[in-house]
Amino acid sequence: MTNFADPLLRALAPYVPGEQPRLKGVVKLNTNESPYPPAPGVLKAVQAAVEGMNRYPDLTAGLFLQQLSKETGVPQNLLMAVNGSDEALDFIFTAFAWRGVAFADETYGFYPVYAARRGIVPTIVPLREDFTLAVEDYDGYEGTVFIANPNAPTGLALAVSQIRGLLKRNPQMLLVVDEAYVDFGGESCLPLLQEFDNLLVVGTFSKSRQLAGTRIGWVAGCKELMDVLQTVRSSFNPYNVNSMSIAAGAAALQDKEYFITCRNAVVATREQTITRLRALGFTVTQSLANFVFASHLSFKADYLAQELKEQKILVRHFNRPRIQNWLRISVGSDDEMETLFAALRQIIKPGIQA
Ligand SMILES: *Cc1c(COP(=O)(O)O)cnc(C)c1O
Repeated sequence: MTNFADPLLRALAPYVPGEQPRLKGVVKLNTNESPYPPAPGVLKAVQAAVEGMNRYPDLTAGLFLQQLSKETGVPQNLLMAVNGSDEALDFIFTAFAWRGVAFADETYGFYPVYAARRGIVPTIVPLREDFTLAVEDYDGYEGTVFIANPNAPTGLALAVSQIRGLLKRNPQMLLVVDEAYVDFGGESCLPLLQEFDNLLVVGTFSKSRQLAGTRIGWVAGCKELMDVLQTVRSSFNPYNVNSMSIAAGAAALQDKEYFITCRNAVVATREQTITRLRALGFTVTQSLANFVFASHLSFKADYLAQELKEQKILVRHFNRPRIQNWLRISVGSDDEMETLFAALRQIIKPGIQA
């Protein structure tokens, strides 16, 4: 048979998302969702949207972007709603990757896939020995740089002042800051949009807003960059965000108190989790995200992941040389973390109290 596939796709290793089992009783700590349900107002808003399902969605996602603009202080015309921030990243690659792309060796696993899909060989800039990202390593680069801040899977964050310095020294560089985890203790770069026209900021409602299942996110940048992204969107799928997701996102934004309560709960649980993991002999990074990144002194990460899985506890293990002895564990509810620690105590050393 003729090979009909685009040559670019033949050798492409696609992104491998964490498992999404639909079984009951699984403790799911593998894809960094919120363990808490959506804000109470979301259900009603989605129900109302379902009633208007016979019509195409609002092309401007106005209900959502109006709220988002109010919350972030970014003018509505400099924001775009997307079908999960993965879509924003894809739009950005389509529009701006032609000048070349650079990112860290250990960061969001989708960046190399987007590059490969366009036949682009990325410039890989290794993180330092302690997994920190040194912004000066990117100085002079002439293409598009992707930085997840806080980074995944390390959880380590840069200060806005460091990013401002990078932008200031490098007007030739387009910088994309992926803020999927910023709400858990990082500093948002959105205020920098007032100063710089070589910055795009990407965000999602999947991690800190209890809406991973609706697929809603956003991208922000100066007028010129957003015009290009609107061209990409309008030449791909103008109705990229469905009406239920628009309604859900807007309703989630309206309940700021619920957002803060959930966020604070995750942050408190994260801090306890880090302390308890260290007590069990793990090395743990100082994560500012809704996951922890941990490596045990005497137990291999893939062994631990496998043992936990047998007890229906899912964590993420990446089979990449530099981090193969590390686990990324999402911060769940306190009950879920109790289950995790009960299992870990059993696996690691009976008798130790974490
Ligand atoms: C989860 C994640 C995304 C994708 O989020 P969606 O909005 O669910 O597509 C993007 N970037 C990073 C760093 C992430 O961890």
